[in-house]
Amino acid sequence: MADRYLSFTGTAPGRLLTRRLGLPQPARLRRWSAEQPTLQGRLLHLTAGKSDLDLAPVLALAGLDLDLVPAGSALDLGTENPVAVVLDATGVHDVDSLAEVHAALHPVVRSVAGSGRIVVLGSPPDPADHHRAAVQQGLEGFVRSLGKEIGRGRTVNLVRLTDARAAESTFRFLLSPRSAYVSGQVIEVGDGGGTDAGAGSGVVGAPADWGRPLAGRTALITGAARGIGEAVAATLARDGARVVCLDVPAAGADLDAVAARLGGVALALDITADDAGARIADALPEGLDVLVHNAGITRDRRLVNMPAERWSSVLDVNLASVLRTTDALLSGGTLRPGGRVVATASIAGIAGNAGQTNYAASKAGIVGLVRSLGPRALSEYGVTVNAVAPGFIETRMTAAVPLFIREAGRRMNSLAQGGLPVDVAETTAWFASPGSGAVNGQVVRVCGQSLLGA
Ligand code: NAD
Repeated sequence: MADRYLSFTGTAPGRLLTRRLGLPQPARLRRWSAEQPTLQGRLLHLTAGKSDLDLAPVLALAGLDLDLVPAGSALDLGTENPVAVVLDATGVHDVDSLAEVHAALHPVVRSVAGSGRIVVLGSPPDPADHHRAAVQQGLEGFVRSLGKEIGRGRTVNLVRLTDARAAESTFRFLLSPRSAYVSGQVIEVGDGGGTDAGAGSGVVGAPADWGRPLAGRTALITGAARGIGEAVAATLARDGARVVCLDVPAAGADLDAVAARLGGVALALDITADDAGARIADALPEGLDVLVHNAGITRDRRLVNMPAERWSSVLDVNLASVLRTTDALLSGGTLRPGGRVVATASIAGIAGNAGQTNYAASKAGIVGLVRSLGPRALSEYGVTVNAVAPGFIETRMTAAVPLFIREAGRRMNSLAQGGLPVDVAETTAWFASPGSGAVNGQVVRVCGQSLLGA
């Protein structure tokens, strides 16, 4: 379903009229393309407080022109506006040093290019120092507020980390057009279990070629016949994966077409079948590296009108089958060490939504699954478990929403537009990357910073 309002505000009269009327001004977002894979331009590296991170060598790998501004020195903005700013605030430990965050970004924020990025770096919460914990938490409110006011398709995110190298894949994602619809997020990156100086850029598991990070890997995507699942399959195939596309037998023709187009394999299977895990394992005797639980359904009704069947069908597809197949493929060894599980939550599972008690329960269940299983799966199987939580994404699911609710859903986010299936796919690809071993147990919303559940 085309977003006609976005096209209209892209014209000079449209811009003038909507500005006069005080209506939302969505910017056309810059997304990844083979011709323009990076944001192209200047990356400002700023620091607030005294940092111990060895950040510059990692930022230098992001494909931008790195401009390091030493802490305390005067900033020369020059003539070229930055396309991205990374503010290292890991050393902020009291209210006075928090003021350095204001001092660093206040003169810069106006000049950041349209569709540009601001990434603020913070430290994990410190239970032993409540002053430090307070101001580090303060960064979250700061980032979420700046995301809401910055406009022009620019995004603002917070990354909590202790080891810059372990966050390389996260910088490559956030500082690129791939993260166009990810804003207002807080992402925790672990220490990655150390570094290996002999391999690639030094991160354990780092791909030999960041342009095709999934080369030699096999990825299974459920619900791949259309919508977000189809885009995930296409994006993982672009990144070099051999894709196994799963969907219900009734979607067989579409599924075959998607698999054939991507040079992958079709697996017609209802994911709620009791033996689904065993049948996937049989189809993948050589093992699996990336498991994407994308299949999902809605059966909306207010609780007073909801028959048990509507409840159970949604819980079965969206949560029970995810739990069952993940358990089977982990314990049976089909998911190989270094593997990745990416499940699909929803902002409805975070904020709740009238008419969706069943759906929101299932999607909140995904959040619980990821947080509990992530740490254990990594230590027991060497597998990470993360979730994407889409907001309003332009698919058949949202095209069926009545006009006024659809229009509200599209605009009620900081970027004032719906996301595209590829935005969820790019976030999935970042989780799926061999370089993302330090990204675990995270739920990242792909929602343009939706006002729901913000
Ligand atoms: P969609 O309805 O377009 O596609 C879902 C696919 O899953 C279909 O091809 C369907 O046949 C398949 N599927 C359903 N039940 C299945 C089963 N039992 N076994 C195997 N395959 C099955 O949906 P979409 O909009 O692409 O959404 C994909 C995922 O993203 C879902 O989990 C959905 O809940 C979630 N999500 C979507 C949005 C959005 O705005 N579109 C927002 C939040 C979350």
